[in-house]
Amino acid sequence: MVTLIVATSNPGKLKEMQAYLTDSSLNWELALKPDSLEIEETGTTFLDNARLKASQVAQAMNQWAIADDSGLAVDALGGAPGVYSARYGKTDRERIERLLFELGNEPNRQAQFVCAIAIARPDGKIMLETEGICPGEVLDTPRGRGGFGYDPVFYVPDQQMTFAEMPPETKHAVSHRGRAFQILLPQLKSLAAD
Ligand code: IMP
Repeated sequence: MVTLIVATSNPGKLKEMQAYLTDSSLNWELALKPDSLEIEETGTTFLDNARLKASQVAQAMNQWAIADDSGLAVDALGGAPGVYSARYGKTDRERIERLLFELGNEPNRQAQFVCAIAIARPDGKIMLETEGICPGEVLDTPRGRGGFGYDPVFYVPDQQMTFAEMPPETKHAVSHRGRAFQILLPQLKSLAAD
């Protein structure tokens, strides 16, 4: 087994990654990075931030590391909140309120959730990177009780539900993060086999 450090202090993310990466043929064992090791997200794209976090954590711990960065990009807002999705307000409620305020009566509600993932080897070199996208629309009122973040206002026409209305397995199958992991998994297997 090779240890893969998850470059986040959030145990929820570790759990989520474990769920996506549960595959008996994978030769990786996930572990959380120490809280004391903080990496600032200074990149201008999701991929920049994922690379930065994976690379810096790998070098600091001299172990393989995986990092993700995600957020919501709204067409009519020129891609905002984008990499600032987590910093758009102090709470999920404030973030949603700000998003709906900025959009106002704008008829174009097209948006996409993006998730970038990067994996670095112990010297910090990026060995794998991938991006998953889930297109949808921003509703003008929240719907559903599940999920987190912007889920109640993000409607996926293919499923005719918001992320917050979906059972977790549906969200995992269609979400930006789920799609990114679906692309990553076979690549991770061949990396482990090298
Ligand atoms: P980060 O990837 O931890 O930097 O977080 C990005 C931010 O984007 C989160 O705090 C959420 O506000 C938002 N976000 C990312 N993925 C999702 C999702 O699946 N549903 C709702 N909000 C999300």
